[in-house]
Amino acid sequence: MTSTQAAPLQVVATFSIIGDMAGEVGGDLVDLKTLVAPDADAHVYEPRPADAMAIARADVVLTNGLEFEGFLSRLIAASGTDASIIALTDGLPTMEEPGGGHYHYVNGEAIFHAGAHDPHVWQSVENAKGYVANISAAFCAADADNCTQYQANAADYSARLDTLDAQIRASIDALPADRRTVVVAHNAFRYFEAAYGVTFLSPQGVSTEGEAAAADVAGLIREIRAANAGAIFGENISDTRLLERIGEETGLTLSGTLYSDALSGADGPAPTYIAMMRHNTSAITAALTAE
Ligand SMILES: [Zn+2]
Ligand SMILES: [Zn+2]
Repeated sequence: MTSTQAAPLQVVATFSIIGDMAGEVGGDLVDLKTLVAPDADAHVYEPRPADAMAIARADVVLTNGLEFEGFLSRLIAASGTDASIIALTDGLPTMEEPGGGHYHYVNGEAIFHAGAHDPHVWQSVENAKGYVANISAAFCAADADNCTQYQANAADYSARLDTLDAQIRASIDALPADRRTVVVAHNAFRYFEAAYGVTFLSPQGVSTEGEAAAADVAGLIREIRAANAGAIFGENISDTRLLERIGEETGLTLSGTLYSDALSGADGPAPTYIAMMRHNTSAITAALTAE
């Protein structure tokens, strides 16, 4: 630390999960603003004038990329910022979206979220370490004087992520092989599935209204029975009506809430990325081991 106190690096993170990671790497050296709050859905976010002002004065804007933040390009253009815009999924192994996107359920309606690649890359802890490396590199590029500290913070955090990854792996590995399937509100857990070996089923384009929807729900229910799915989870950013209906038809009850695209508030069970991954893992394993 030098005696000349420079102004802190101005950082904007688009949503709560990468905001938490940015805080771990930046600590007191950055002035951090997160746009989409805990428990809020980045897909349907309506930016406010204060967001454009924060981006206008930012040195670094941290985004997920892969068309996760649909609101962002207009906001960046409107702000006229000359900040570095960093997509934290750059260089990470991403999965394609087989159908060119996935569905969300908002007020009982299926909303298609188009994109060539699945944006939920943070759902594997190994990938989260890639986000941390990209954050550290972005901070070092914008604020070379404090690079050593950013790198030290990133190394410390990555070591805790390694511990988390091992804990998740051990918990899932302890499940019986035929009790590895759960139903979720939207298809946000494909990276978790690939990394840890839990299968997630979700409605694809099913609306709660109408005749055609009944056939789609029937297809999912057949899938749920064939896979011997053990639990249904709500999600902090989705409405649960469709899941409740699927539950009624399959005899499964809602087993709690998973945090997919947003952290909980400070008083909730998932106020940090590490707490979120621990909470999701213990909710899944508890539901699948219950009789
Ligand atoms: Zn989406
Ligand atoms: Zn999502």
